[in-house]
Amino acid sequence: MQRHGYFCEDCDKTVFPTTTRAELAWLKDRHHVAREVARHSSGGLDHWMTEGLAFLDDHAGHSVLIISKDR
Ligand SMILES: [Zn+2]
Repeated sequence: MQRHGYFCEDCDKTVFPTTTRAELAWLKDRHHVAREVARHSSGGLDHWMTEGLAFLDDHAGHSVLIISKDR
């Protein structure tokens, strides 16, 4: 099964949360909204979202791409 993840061109780092490409694109486009949701969510987020948000926070302002890992 094809996995998708984020790749930071500036740091040459990748992360592959367990989710679909569409979800990763959604989170990347709405990073700031998602972070607000996370802040007000006491029950905790899905693991992929926590993982994705952490990566986007670490690489804010960097060139982050969505890549596939099918190799
Ligand atoms: Zn980076």
